[in-house]
Amino acid sequence: MTLDPNDVEAKKDALIAAARRCFETGLQTNAGGNLSVRLSAAEAVVIKPSGVGFAEVARDNLQVAWLDGRIEPSALKPSKDLDFHLAIYRARDDVNAVVHCHSPWATGWACAGLEIPCCTVQTIEKIGRMPLIPLSPNGGPQTEAEIGPVFADPSVRAAVLANHGTIGVGPTLTKALHLAEIIEETAQVAFVRDGLMAARGMAGADLPRFGTAADARAAG
Ligand SMILES: [Zn+2]
Repeated sequence: MTLDPNDVEAKKDALIAAARRCFETGLQTNAGGNLSVRLSAAEAVVIKPSGVGFAEVARDNLQVAWLDGRIEPSALKPSKDLDFHLAIYRARDDVNAVVHCHSPWATGWACAGLEIPCCTVQTIEKIGRMPLIPLSPNGGPQTEAEIGPVFADPSVRAAVLANHGTIGVGPTLTKALHLAEIIEETAQVAFVRDGLMAARGMAGADLPRFGTAADARAAG
């Protein structure tokens, strides 16, 4: 299978725009985090390499990696996260983009070892549940061995990595990006909720009574 240069260029430009938006909204500063998008013309993805910040991604530093792990010639080191991105694409035909950020509110929950509750109607509708994935057994960052099996479940669209960050996936780059934003927004909302409830001596926040809007309509 060969690469279509027009497809590669268009996907690089889309990835650059998504990365800039993550930087500008504070989802990802420095050179951490990662994002990738599947090429439509080949079993390959465009992905940010190691050591390049979201604000610095450009056509000439983004890499093209094949789903079997081969990487098109590049002077830069591939991301440490490449293997888990590829594992998700291999397992999920419905996933065409992966956005992984170290966004601060969500990563705060992740560092406390807490799952972020899907406490708003939007998170119930769009995400359902955000599993918390523990560190790898040697104490290092999560790898494809921990992340792959969680995303093999087709209902999982978002997850939180303990002591690390977040992952949002989607059928388009925009949808994966929106999930990364919703995860961060929900982490902040849940923190405010818990702080207010603690200050007022309240316990046991109610999650939405129904799931999706369709569920609510069906229940009358
Ligand atoms: Zn990371």
